[in-house]
Amino acid sequence: MASPEIETLTQALARLPGLGPRSARRAVLHLLKKRETALAPLLRALEAVNERLATCSICGNVDTTDPCGICADPRRDARALCVVEDVPDLWALDRSRLFPGRYHVLGGRLSALEGVRPEDLRIDSLVSRIAAGGIDEVVLAMNATLEGQTTAHYIAERIERFPIRLTQLAHGLPVGGELDYLDEGTLAQALRARRPVA
Ligand SMILES: [Zn+2]
Repeated sequence: MASPEIETLTQALARLPGLGPRSARRAVLHLLKKRETALAPLLRALEAVNERLATCSICGNVDTTDPCGICADPRRDARALCVVEDVPDLWALDRSRLFPGRYHVLGGRLSALEGVRPEDLRIDSLVSRIAAGGIDEVVLAMNATLEGQTTAHYIAERIERFPIRLTQLAHGLPVGGELDYLDEGTLAQALRARRPVA
């Protein structure tokens, strides 16, 4: 029987996405055995992130600085903006620098079922960013789910009055596909073959 402290740690890890009780027990055992090389560095990394955790006031990304590293990077193409539902989608797209521009994180998707309305998402701040000018292309990179596409249509209507090229990811995306789960090849293809919003 593990001590209450070890049990608490195991349960906390087991609640993480992608882990379960079994993986959590294995991870804890590893951390206990490798105190200096695994446990201590992990603890320092967690503390460092926890101290500096910030949501980017421009794009909604999660980082340890505000503005985030992407918004602050002058090498990024400021004329191209990619709109995503949530932070994991941004990270998936940005993993291999597939998109040269900047991002805008909505913080979810419209959902009648879950009661998510336009004002619950960062849509007004998206419109403000575009209205401020300097943006030539907006890519709608919503997930290929019904709610994702409903969200894309709503946004397209809200920003159609601006003189921008409005595109969306190609339908090479599997229906119901969540960006976060796609491999980089599929994602790159969907981005390269992006097409104008009808
Ligand atoms: Zn940002």
